[in-house]
Amino acid sequence: MSQSANNLEKHEFQSEAKQVLELMINSVYSNPDIFLRELISNASDAIDKLRIEGLSNETISGLARDGKITVTIDRDARSVTVSDNGLGMSRDELISYLGTIARSGTKEFIRAMRDAQSGGSDLIGQFGVGFYSSFIVASKVTVRTRRAGDDESWVWDSSGDGTFTVEPGDMKTNGTDIILCLKERTADEDDDTKDYLSAWTLRNIIKQYSDFVSYPICVVEKGKNSKDDGEPVNSMKALWTRPESEVTSEEYFEFYRHIAHDWETPIERIVYKTEGTNEFHALMFIPSRPPMDLYYREGKHGVQLYIRRVFIMNDCRDLIPEYMRFIKGVVDSEDLPLNVSREILQQDRQTSMIKRSLTRKILDSLKKIKQERPDDYKKFWMSFGPVLKEGLVSDHKNGEAIMKLCLFNSSKGERTTLDDYVASMKEKQNSIYYITGSSTSSLLNSPKLESFKKRGVEVLLLGDPVDELWVTTAGKFGDYPFISVVSADVEIEGDEKESAEDKEAAKRIEETGFLARIKDAFSRQEGIAKSVEDVRLSTRLVDSPATFVQLGDPVSAQMRNMFKTMGQDLPEEKRVLELNPNHPLIRKIAALPEADKDKFEIWSTILSGLAQVSDGEPVENGRVFTATLTKLLEG
Ligand code: ADP
Repeated sequence: MSQSANNLEKHEFQSEAKQVLELMINSVYSNPDIFLRELISNASDAIDKLRIEGLSNETISGLARDGKITVTIDRDARSVTVSDNGLGMSRDELISYLGTIARSGTKEFIRAMRDAQSGGSDLIGQFGVGFYSSFIVASKVTVRTRRAGDDESWVWDSSGDGTFTVEPGDMKTNGTDIILCLKERTADEDDDTKDYLSAWTLRNIIKQYSDFVSYPICVVEKGKNSKDDGEPVNSMKALWTRPESEVTSEEYFEFYRHIAHDWETPIERIVYKTEGTNEFHALMFIPSRPPMDLYYREGKHGVQLYIRRVFIMNDCRDLIPEYMRFIKGVVDSEDLPLNVSREILQQDRQTSMIKRSLTRKILDSLKKIKQERPDDYKKFWMSFGPVLKEGLVSDHKNGEAIMKLCLFNSSKGERTTLDDYVASMKEKQNSIYYITGSSTSSLLNSPKLESFKKRGVEVLLLGDPVDELWVTTAGKFGDYPFISVVSADVEIEGDEKESAEDKEAAKRIEETGFLARIKDAFSRQEGIAKSVEDVRLSTRLVDSPATFVQLGDPVSAQMRNMFKTMGQDLPEEKRVLELNPNHPLIRKIAALPEADKDKFEIWSTILSGLAQVSDGEPVENGRVFTATLTKLLEG
């Protein structure tokens, strides 16, 4: 930043903002009209924000009445000004908001624009780059703003050349004027519809993109008095109260774009209305991609709340359960009092009724998408599945319905549902088997799955952090309990012949006294596998010689770490080393002469290390393991 004598400060744009500006200025666009949509959207947001701040700040609450947006044309100056009487910006806000881009997907957008052959003309229309789209049509942009409650006002100025200036201004009232000095028209540009100095053109654009905006938008021409001046161009008709058949998809999409700041078509729109004692309208959207703040506690979660068509608040979390925080939309209640606050909402009976009803409606919609549009559903699941699954922990009432919506990877590869799992269970199978961990691909290779695979018994691969929580809280699906394959007591049901053969092999090895000797070797080994509670022969392994299983409720390494970072140590796990009686290595060790105690020690170290490696865990005492292995390899 540099400063001159007359208080004019010069600032640089953040580098991403600079890149977007360059793209705005240098490309040729098929649809420059969108600049007006973006500026009006910002203006309407600013009036919303003033209303919200006014609720908790008495000094400005009086300013929050009669929000209005005015678009002024000045033919002589070749300028178009979008003015609002909203919250305005302080000096610091002005510098930070209009000098950087905080929007998610900006990098992606810059890349896509650069790659696009046509100069990315349609991309801009889809993406919407907010304030920066001014530079599509303007060679210079001036922003005059005064924050409600502040005494000072500020003037921001830029020609989009990488820098902007800020200096004190002389605005008398709160709000913001965005003044666009239009680029010179070239000779071949004589299309009237692109004449942004024409009131007719601007009115058409506003009708097309901003009809639903809930504050009046007027277009006036400087030096000209027209009968239309005081007439709002937009109908201000709340989209959610209009019958679905009367609203076009484009109108819904424009509205979605306005509230979600997302340029991709949502997967679904849900128009919902209830009547009776608790009457409300809802218009909700399921986006097609996750926003950046999906997993942030402070993220913009929740829907907009209106009461009898009056905007009350953004990001209202009490109307939608946390596990549906991907939903964007509006709820308009007929019955809540206008002076409702967040605190009141939290305890309000009506609010919880609305929430229950919306939750059911959204679950129904998801069920329908799953049945009728499986590809879209998969897309939804990839984006929001882990979030929806949180509902299995927090919303027991709808647990069964949510479970039916879940898609899982399984040992059989393709995505499956619990209903499909149950339908393809083996004859005497009465449980749903699962394994948890940090990624489904490593789970698929777990030795614990070997005998399940051999017997054709499907195992669910639960690779999301939330899986472990819900699977233990939920306990079962229908009549079928969830059983972890990591549990020491798991018995694969339904295949007695195979099990009998495995048991026979185990018996033969046991008769050699092998187990007692290997246990003895473990007890003599300091530090190698301190947490080994027991050693057993197993029927669960096919190709691997050894694996660790857990006594009691299995808790994954991942979960342990999670608790540890929260400062909570779980009780030490009790692990059992299971050995494969059919494996040549185990048979070889079992055949060692009784006197070879040293060899047994070496093999116990190797086996516990191998088990940990094949379970995808770090070896507990890597130094001893590698030294022993090296010695063994040396012969
Ligand atoms: P977005 O609207 O997606 O946040 P923009 O680049 O359009 O991105 O605007 C950046 C920020 O500048 C807005 O979030 C808002 O805080 C502020 N802003 C823009 N226009 C106005 C306005 N007319 N009044 C008050 N603040 C505004």
